[in-house]
Amino acid sequence: MKPVHVIGGGLAGSEAAWQMANRGVPVVLHEMRPVRGTDAHKTDGLAELVCSNSFRSDDAQFNAVGLLHEELRRAGSLVMRAADANQVPAGGALAVDRDGFSRAVTEALEAHPLIEIERGEIAGLPPEDWDSAIIATGPLTSPALSDAILKVTGEDELAFFDAIAPIVHFDSIDMETAWFQSRYDKVGPGGTGKDYVNCPLDKEQYEAFIDALIDGPKTEFKEWEDTPYFDGCLPIEVMAERGRETLRHGPMKPMGLTNAHNPTVKPYAVVQLRQDNALGTLYNMVGFQTKLKYSAQVEVFQMIPGLQEASFARLGGLHRNTFLNSPKLLDATLKLKARPSLRFAGQITGCEGYVESASVGCMTGIFAACERLGQEISRPPETTAMGAILAHITGGHISRDDEGPRSFQPMNVNFGLFPPVEAPTKGEDGKRLRGQAKKKARNLALSRRALADFDRWVAGIAPTREAAE
Ligand code: FAD
Repeated sequence: MKPVHVIGGGLAGSEAAWQMANRGVPVVLHEMRPVRGTDAHKTDGLAELVCSNSFRSDDAQFNAVGLLHEELRRAGSLVMRAADANQVPAGGALAVDRDGFSRAVTEALEAHPLIEIERGEIAGLPPEDWDSAIIATGPLTSPALSDAILKVTGEDELAFFDAIAPIVHFDSIDMETAWFQSRYDKVGPGGTGKDYVNCPLDKEQYEAFIDALIDGPKTEFKEWEDTPYFDGCLPIEVMAERGRETLRHGPMKPMGLTNAHNPTVKPYAVVQLRQDNALGTLYNMVGFQTKLKYSAQVEVFQMIPGLQEASFARLGGLHRNTFLNSPKLLDATLKLKARPSLRFAGQITGCEGYVESASVGCMTGIFAACERLGQEISRPPETTAMGAILAHITGGHISRDDEGPRSFQPMNVNFGLFPPVEAPTKGEDGKRLRGQAKKKARNLALSRRALADFDRWVAGIAPTREAAE
């Protein structure tokens, strides 16, 4: 059988190689380190963790990333096996000894009879005679390869920085203060004229908000992240520093909006949130990309009327990150539409984080293996954590945007990406559940449904050798 080539031996590439080889598909894994380094990696180990040593919460009942850990374990993941074997104490989180973790992944892949590891950069698109290849080169893809990808995808479809605006769980927005309306009631494609959630500020609230933005602690870029800001992606605090009125004439302009709760009083400024997923469970704060530290973001953004109790699915940020406009470029099984012999995996597809990257590696490996084995490819259901990530990547943020291009930004796994579930509304004492108790009941119902659906999906795909034994 011809091998599948995997480019990049990080979290995603290592997992993809393992999933394929364990299904009897030969793999050549190409990793450029130590021949060529990146600005963040320090070793020549596979699956090196470039920053934190945490895989975040390991709670599979109430936390979406903990659920993803469990799905990966049930799929026979090498990344999770190595993480579990190298765990260090970290409360409810799964943290690992980074060297032991990377060594365990490297040794398992080196020892696998169907995996050949080649050290060296793939400095362009894979040769035509590789009839199946997976590109898993991550946020720091080498320039020669990213240039080649750009040539196939087009200039606008590969980003080198993510400028992320915070995303809020819709059910945490106070809609007795905020209201639905598009600016000037404009009806865009697929829209209703009520596509945005609007949060009003009076003059005093606006001035206090500007002070908090200017005074809040900021994350400094590392030297190698020395980025010229680009138009349309200026952090809001940088805009505020340029002049106290700048935001009121930019993303916070109140024009064309009437407060439905108080039509006679014109808001001094308005923060708009736009629907961010097809389910309508997530809303992003339009134009609010920021370098404020995470702790400060929660405090400052909860000053906005309507967001005083906001729960954030993702906080804002600005990072060096190479990622595709995947919803446009990739098909349902992560193939590049313009060149179907290529699949993508990991952070370059627009997921965010170690565990998410490994999970996309897991899915891509399974899809490529099924194809090699002549078996039908089935996607994990969207009710599972993996399926929810896949839907985000291939379905993308929906944006009934009448003011700019569609936006696709990287995302950690979170319960806002899952289709709604029926959850208990009353506790054992018969009282109505509220606040955290209501959220816990919902998360538990989502997790239970996810694991049941995941087990059915895994049972239906080509088994790994371990599962078959
Ligand atoms: P990687 O793990 O980066 O693996 C890609 C591999 O491809 C690398 O080994 C690289 O050497 C290789 N490669 C690149 N180009 C080529 C080429 N042309 N030929 C051959 N090989 C190539 N996520 C978290 O969850 N927690 C964090 O704390 C965190 N901190 C981060 C800090 C920084 C500075 C950066 C850049 C990212 C951080 N991330 C963090 C995101 C993290 O990088 C990803 O979550 C994860 O590593 C992505 O996995 P991946 O397999 O897609 O890419």
